[in-house]
Amino acid sequence: MARRLMIAGNWKMNNTYAEAVVLCQHISNNFCKEWDDCVDTVVCPPAIDLKGVWGVFEFDNMPISVGAQNVHWEPSGAFTGEISTGMLKEIGCQYCIIGHSERRTLFGETNEQVNLKLKALLEAGIAPIVCVGESLEVRDAGTTDEFVCAQVRAAFAGVDAGKAKQCVVAYEPIWAIGTGRTATPEQAQEVCAAIRATLTDMYGAEAAEAMRVLYGGSMNPGNVEALVAQDDIDGGLIGGAALKAESFIDLVKAAYAQARK
Ligand code: PEP
Repeated sequence: MARRLMIAGNWKMNNTYAEAVVLCQHISNNFCKEWDDCVDTVVCPPAIDLKGVWGVFEFDNMPISVGAQNVHWEPSGAFTGEISTGMLKEIGCQYCIIGHSERRTLFGETNEQVNLKLKALLEAGIAPIVCVGESLEVRDAGTTDEFVCAQVRAAFAGVDAGKAKQCVVAYEPIWAIGTGRTATPEQAQEVCAAIRATLTDMYGAEAAEAMRVLYGGSMNPGNVEALVAQDDIDGGLIGGAALKAESFIDLVKAAYAQARK
């Protein structure tokens, strides 16, 4: 079944407000609206840049969505430093990354918290981009599929098929993030297929076939084509290569070319 491809840029903690506006203006100036026929393009800047970035795309009437990199599951309250789903929704956020490996390893985000965030986002009408992925130790131990699929099951616990369909899963092997060491298309496909099999087991084939599974980990204009050509890879979550307008645009263009094949 044909799923729309997605190219989502995760800027991480990069770009001041002024730099963010310049970068997304550059993206907007070079974006071709027909790419939206078959590719969803998303930019996930730091929280403080969200409104400005959304404003540039909105002003230019560009079919580029904005996503956050994190959220708290409670609607409001004494959670210093946190941001709620309602706050994101009001400033135009349509997506939110949750469970990124940097948040799991550096900030102690647990599977349970990812599940709470996923449910809160769905409640607010924001599509979660749920990151899962194994460390090099897990890969070397030969337990990648079990580890990653357990993360998927935990993230989606208590979520029904209708809601799950609104989510995107991003398979991001930790050893490939920011290292320049990409998973081979075959390695990435194998795990993405295992993720889809898990989703099929949880929700049935119809829902699982409708859900996007992205690959993330040193994706760039040179390797995107081979990765998105795989049956179960529906696009990419991109860090480093999303920080330059030229490479981000090349990624969207390559996804569009693949979708048109
Ligand atoms: C990421 O952080 O989600 C990511 C995939 O980063 P990079 O593309 O730089 O490996």
